[in-house]
Amino acid sequence: MKIESKMDKVTTSIFSVMSKLALECNAVNLSQGFPDYPADPELKDLVCKYIQRDHNQYAPMPGVPALLTQIADKIERSYSWRPIADSQITVTTGASQAICSAIGMLIRPGDEAVIIEPAYDSYKPAVMMNGGKVNVYEMKAPDFKVDWEALEALVNDKTRMLIVNNPHNPTGTIFDEEDMKQIVRICEKYDLIILSDEVYEHLVFDESKHLSILQYPELRSRGMAVFSFGKSLHATGWKTGYIIAPKELTSEFRKVHQFTVFCVNTPVQYAIAEYMTTHMDWSALGKFFESKRDLLYQGLQGTGLKPFRCEGTYFQLYDYSSISDRKEEDFAVWLTREYGVATIPISPFYSSDREQSLIRVCFAKHDETIRKACEALKQLKSAQKV
Ligand code: PMP
Ligand code: GLN
Repeated sequence: MKIESKMDKVTTSIFSVMSKLALECNAVNLSQGFPDYPADPELKDLVCKYIQRDHNQYAPMPGVPALLTQIADKIERSYSWRPIADSQITVTTGASQAICSAIGMLIRPGDEAVIIEPAYDSYKPAVMMNGGKVNVYEMKAPDFKVDWEALEALVNDKTRMLIVNNPHNPTGTIFDEEDMKQIVRICEKYDLIILSDEVYEHLVFDESKHLSILQYPELRSRGMAVFSFGKSLHATGWKTGYIIAPKELTSEFRKVHQFTVFCVNTPVQYAIAEYMTTHMDWSALGKFFESKRDLLYQGLQGTGLKPFRCEGTYFQLYDYSSISDRKEEDFAVWLTREYGVATIPISPFYSSDREQSLIRVCFAKHDETIRKACEALKQLKSAQKV
């Protein structure tokens, strides 16, 4: 049988590749972004409770009502604006499905989307899968800022949407007021829909504040904001997230959602809803991860790995150019095999495979795990440049 691939340029995700290699090499895995510490026992007990109470059948298509209400409360608390639970919130199978379904609902063959690279790996394939094309704006080291006028030059009459990610994986940068102002300007000028991936909304450091598109009336009227309980509740494997959009967009979104997954894991939705009645304030997450970021920073001092500014997410970029001339993927593989620490190269986040001698290190780990990795990498300083 001859299959004409729609995705012939797509290869296995770098997250799977590096986690598999980490396992094979018995390396400390600071590559794929997931915690190695347990989720809150109270939350785990709640999931068990709802399974035992036989909440084991299909949930309502948009989400369990109690969870939709909790999400509305949470958004109001965080962003001083309350979405309508029934018509503006949909619970999804992680942020990934929200992103894919949102793109699927909007992009037709020939349509274009502007994305900002380095970019999370699912945006571009989702656009391609629907016959669309991405126009790529490249952020570059060391500051990874967007020149919005240069980005604006990528917009044309086929452009349907702008996809942004804030706080940003993998660079750890966050948007400021000026960025948001420019996004408003561009989206209004060209009548674009904005898809804003905000899965790291609570993971911002040094007293910074996350700016959501939901705080801007001009953006929430033309925007879809995507969130993930995987990040906020330290349970990436539960693949539960949600999307918030105006009524008209939500209605279109649900047409795709109902034929993609129909609904999301029922006991997990009930458990999160009950958990949120007593755990609504997630502002401590910033401090929790900030101390891990600082532990990693301290631990890698003197290794030759040069850290970048990290304002948010649980990822830290490092420049390894004083240690090696290897390409990023080769370096990450070498580091895993020779030093027992797995990280993520940045080149796969660029369509152009841009090489900048950068790796991404995930610090959503036990302090012990971070210390162990730093100990192993201390030996780098005595190594010859390779
Ligand atoms: N967006 C970004 C920027 C991410 O880092 C991730 C990774 N988890 C996702 C989306 C996907 O989230 P989920 O696991 O909830 O599907
Ligand atoms: N978001 C995670 C990361 O950036 C990975 C998710 C995945 O493996 N698809 O590492």
